[in-house]
Amino acid sequence: MNILVKFTIPFLAIMVSCDSSKNDALVKGTNEHLTAVTSAIDDQVLANAKNDSKNWLSYGLNYSENRFSQLEEVSEGNVDKLGLLWSYDLNSIRGVEATPVVVDGIMYVTAPWSIVHAIDTRTGKQIWTYDPMVPRETGIKACCDVVNRGVALYKGKIFFASLDGRLISLDAATGTKVWEQVTLDTTKNYTITGAPRVFKGKVIIGNGGAEYGVRGYITAYDAESGAQVWRWYSVPGNPDEAYEQPELEMAAETWDPSGKYWELGGGGTMWDAMAYDPELNLMYVGVGNGSPWNRRLRSPGGGDNLFLSSIVALDPDDGRYKWHYQETPGDHWDYTATQSLILADLEIEGSKRKVIMQAPKNGFFFVVDRTNGEFISAQNFVDVNWASGYDDKGRPMELEAAEYKSAAYEAIPGPNGAHNWHPMSYNPNTGLVYIPAQGIPVVFEDDPNWVANSRASGGFMSGTGWNTGALGSAVPPQSPIFGHLLAWDPVKQKAAWKVEHIGPWNGGTLSTAGNLVFQGSADGRFVAYNATNGNKLWEVPVGTGVVAAPVTYLVDGRQYVSIAAGWGGSYGMSAHHTESQSPGKIYTFSLGGKTPMPELEIPEPKPIVSGIAYDPKDIGAGTKLYISHCIMCHGVPAVGNGGNIPNLGYADKNKIENLKTFVLTDALKELGMPNFSSKLTEDDLTKIQAFIQGTADAVSSQIAASR
Ligand code: CA
Repeated sequence: MNILVKFTIPFLAIMVSCDSSKNDALVKGTNEHLTAVTSAIDDQVLANAKNDSKNWLSYGLNYSENRFSQLEEVSEGNVDKLGLLWSYDLNSIRGVEATPVVVDGIMYVTAPWSIVHAIDTRTGKQIWTYDPMVPRETGIKACCDVVNRGVALYKGKIFFASLDGRLISLDAATGTKVWEQVTLDTTKNYTITGAPRVFKGKVIIGNGGAEYGVRGYITAYDAESGAQVWRWYSVPGNPDEAYEQPELEMAAETWDPSGKYWELGGGGTMWDAMAYDPELNLMYVGVGNGSPWNRRLRSPGGGDNLFLSSIVALDPDDGRYKWHYQETPGDHWDYTATQSLILADLEIEGSKRKVIMQAPKNGFFFVVDRTNGEFISAQNFVDVNWASGYDDKGRPMELEAAEYKSAAYEAIPGPNGAHNWHPMSYNPNTGLVYIPAQGIPVVFEDDPNWVANSRASGGFMSGTGWNTGALGSAVPPQSPIFGHLLAWDPVKQKAAWKVEHIGPWNGGTLSTAGNLVFQGSADGRFVAYNATNGNKLWEVPVGTGVVAAPVTYLVDGRQYVSIAAGWGGSYGMSAHHTESQSPGKIYTFSLGGKTPMPELEIPEPKPIVSGIAYDPKDIGAGTKLYISHCIMCHGVPAVGNGGNIPNLGYADKNKIENLKTFVLTDALKELGMPNFSSKLTEDDLTKIQAFIQGTADAVSSQIAASR
């Protein structure tokens, strides 16, 4: 092709323009080139992505979302020659959860605060950025950091959602806004962190907020005009009003109206996973947890509370319900079913089955028939203590202690899940699913004094609007905190191998035909493993913990591998495992890459705060206030080394003495620190100070005693 275009003979030029690779004739990186290559991404190209891994065209690589690349230039035999081509600074130390989308070497990736970057992967240079100017006070509505998981690309347009709930279409060549739709009820505590998907010309986007009392829904918009096409609710609304969809009548039978669940919304937000089977014309979506978490408050008479914690199949044309499978009936523990959904064709007991697979928070690996929702199998992939297993009909056999009715209960897995949003991948060559598995136990207690939208009970994060109805107990969990890369055989329902990590909250996975699995780690490494046996083959330090998943693609015939590094997310806000905490970066590697890795700044460890006068009598009240307002972002003072938000146990003394300057004003608004003046008084801050200094003193004396 390149030889052809050098000729200027008219008939050859016509041949060139008819050829599918006509874009070679355009100068790489120009607007015309960007328009041409991105405009070519239509339904047919997206459907064919399962057979063609040249580009990374959508969040999960293809409609099946398997994150398995057929590229094999980089393989188990040569991956040790992988070297850096370039790194690109995202200028933020907040969490980076995005999977980049790449077409013909043009990368589109989102950064904290929903900022979109278009990057030329041939040079590592910025083409354009788009900042939707998210009001920083939105941060308090986001349970789990100001993250964004990525964009969708379709017919020359980029689609992404801002944290504050706008679905935005941009011209892929220039980054100019084409249309914008507010997709949320902005009077409620909804946010969006997920990547939209485009199925059949419709941009589909969910939302989050089930910790804050909202009702989950997803909406489809026409990609061209931005007009709303359909909306689907996952839980019933007020039974005195007409249900929006017929199946909500069936769902309402599984809720007890004496709980007035519709007043807090009921939850069921669909904030991450989707997949699509064009042959069956079914799209799949994972539904989140109940709101409040405590089911006795949400639905006092019990019931399954459909469609919480379910996989649901919808018709992408009109959003009509087709089937559901509920993984955690009557969710009581924040066990969302929003984790990666992967479509595969597996041979199970002698017959070929079209399946959908998920390893949700509840710790069981599910294989379900995607044509009709029939349960095939479920097996726990980590230790669990809430259910002893699943019966033949696909119902969990719950254990009594998990009720947390009369006694505190250490939930294994905890609400961060045995696997969270960090994408898993499925390699059809090895037959294995690669799961970033983990354990972060939390002790639950009943919250009998709970009042909706109130901090009266002093419960976990209630002062920021969290409505869990369950208390985070002062009793520390006894079971291990861990993270590992788990290779799981979905047919045998058992582990093939695993690699232990230093802790939980590691990156998503990518698997390739080069018999490789790539994963970034919480302790700041980007690693390649042998996909068959888990042997480590290559690693490089990236300066910050990694939570996002890597991608791979071809640029001018060469295979590139990219990772968006940047520690953060719910667990990452208050704890980290790296010595340094570099700002988020995109790193891109290829065989023989010779660029030196950027120098890492390793700051001096900060001393534990000391010398603040306080009345020890205030510590008890200060503890409650701190747990109600501060702990989710700032962690436990002087315990751990902080995450991407400062740990107040290492703050300067004068800052803690002048808390009101930061807490009761807009001083740190641009960093996302809310103004708590309507929620906390100066007297409250005196008590919080006592808790911070009291805890710091206790930690200091423990350290001294251990020396
Ligand atoms: Ca949740």
